[in-house]
Amino acid sequence: MDILKENWKDWNVESSIDLDIKMVFVKFWTGRVPDADVNLFLSRFCTILQPAIKPLDKFGIWYGVRKYKIRTKKNSSGETVQIPNTMALGPYNGKITYSGQIPRCYICQGVDHQIKDCPEIKCWRCGGLGHKAKDSRFSSVCSLCAAEGHGFFTCPQSYANRARSGTQLLCIFKNEIEQNRFR
Ligand SMILES: [Zn+2]
Ligand SMILES: [Zn+2]
Ligand SMILES: [Zn+2]
Repeated sequence: MDILKENWKDWNVESSIDLDIKMVFVKFWTGRVPDADVNLFLSRFCTILQPAIKPLDKFGIWYGVRKYKIRTKKNSSGETVQIPNTMALGPYNGKITYSGQIPRCYICQGVDHQIKDCPEIKCWRCGGLGHKAKDSRFSSVCSLCAAEGHGFFTCPQSYANRARSGTQLLCIFKNEIEQNRFR
């Protein structure tokens, strides 16, 4: 019964369904970041509905922006999962922008302070939080897949590491098939 009520509430809010679909822009200053890693990172926070579009400038050169059509995810309490405004893949930092975005600290994603007042430490080597670059081997949480106990460079999910071990290439195809189902 509660579920029914919830549904009616949703229908009454104007275009609430459309608000779940967004265009998300991911900008890296380098072309060396594989699509698969950006896809994996984004998939933690939303459902990718279309593979990345890479707009070209007037000279026909790609300038590092990927454009995604996504559907927002809900957490177990029914709240919309917030997509962060930045993603770190090792030393490479990407900026994420989308409509309705709330200004957040680029390090810890807090809403009550700016980057210069952030109490969190960010490692410029692996992109992880909570340690400095000289302590990078002690990385606690992976910046790519959010698992504990390894960093970006040793992440078994990263494109580079999956490509290195041929047996796990199947996983890449499996992910792509799963993404295709949502189209
Ligand atoms: Zn912060
Ligand atoms: Zn580190
Ligand atoms: Zn990982």
